[in-house]
Amino acid sequence: MPWNFGRVLTERENPLREPGTWLEPGSAHLDVSMHEWMTGLGLDNETVALGYALNTSYGNDAHDISALMMLARAAFSTAQRRHLPEGVVGYTVRGGAQRIPEAMARALVTEVRFDKAVTGIEDSASEVSVHCADGSLYRGDRVVCAVPFPALRKIGLRPELVGRQAQAVADLPSQPMTQLYFATKSDFWEHDGFAPSLFTDGPAGMVAASRRGEDPERVTGLTAWVMGRNALRLDSVSSERASATVVEEVESVRPAVRGQLEYIGRQSWAADPFAGGGWAYFRPGQITRFGSVMSAPHGRVHFCGEHLARIDRGMEGAMESGERAAEEIIS
Ligand SMILES: Cc1cc2nc3c(=O)[nH]c(=O)nc-3n(C[C@H](O)[C@H](O)[C@H](O)COP(=O)(O)OP(=O)(O)OC[C@H]3O[C@@H](n4cnc5c(N)ncnc54)[C@H](O)[C@@H]3O)c2cc1C
Repeated sequence: MPWNFGRVLTERENPLREPGTWLEPGSAHLDVSMHEWMTGLGLDNETVALGYALNTSYGNDAHDISALMMLARAAFSTAQRRHLPEGVVGYTVRGGAQRIPEAMARALVTEVRFDKAVTGIEDSASEVSVHCADGSLYRGDRVVCAVPFPALRKIGLRPELVGRQAQAVADLPSQPMTQLYFATKSDFWEHDGFAPSLFTDGPAGMVAASRRGEDPERVTGLTAWVMGRNALRLDSVSSERASATVVEEVESVRPAVRGQLEYIGRQSWAADPFAGGGWAYFRPGQITRFGSVMSAPHGRVHFCGEHLARIDRGMEGAMESGERAAEEIIS
């Protein structure tokens, strides 16, 4: 199936035995496009377009993403599965993943201050000052800067970053990603006999059933996960127009859905000034250019976030990089 083809292929054909080896110089030959890597396996352009580029989670298409990143991601998934008991495909957090940082915040000695937009970070060599949009100012010995690169681009960092590290902050892309949320007026899947979720090759992207209630089997709504250029197109129109675009497509490919979706709202990560995209990805060649320098401390400023993870991906990557930044400060 299109949504799984690339994942299965990168796990099955993966020359990386362990996650973490992607940053080693010996892996640099894999820092080519997914298109080049997949066609190198003997697949034709149509298969690459169907098997990688359809509503892909990384990049806009198979030319826009480094195969090395996808192989690192696959090595991470394979390694994670080794720790899972037989028959378990993964875990989720009861009440949503937001419960994790909330629990972490409760364990801190000092209170977390919310609603503070950082506009500048200034390192005077003896201390660091953090300036916020509301005029407040914080001083400390060190700063851990945990924002994604699109957000960091808007923060005035003094002294400025230089060389390839500055280039990485300026150039590393973040995944355009928009979600539209729907409630369902009926269990329409009971009528046509298909699974509640569907995957399209149009502007609705992947429309996945959510199961957020007490009963993990019960469908509580549908979420359209729209990636890449289609996400940017939906961001460029009103929320109602975006919803109509998705509903029209879903209804046209699946008649049982007609009149059964109630629009709740839209969330765009690309349009969020504090995110700039769903997650970072590397274009072909960017791992070789930026991988060894992008997380380096800059005076008293240390960097972390999922985009700077060395072994893990996603939330685990964010935590791993946070531990690395803490070790830099302690050591
Ligand atoms: C829809 C979706 C589904 C996902 N699903 C999964 C999943 O199933 N598993 C998984 O492991 N990962 C998943 N991820 C990825 C995961 O959410 C990220 O990898 C993780 O949150 C990254 O953590 P982070 O701390 O690096 O960055 P973030 O969580 O983005 O945190 C950065 C913080 O910096 C703040 N910030 C930015 N700019 C400023 C500023 N100027 N001043 C002050 N604060 C600022 C932001 O508001 C934000 O709170 C998903 C992501 C999305 C969008």
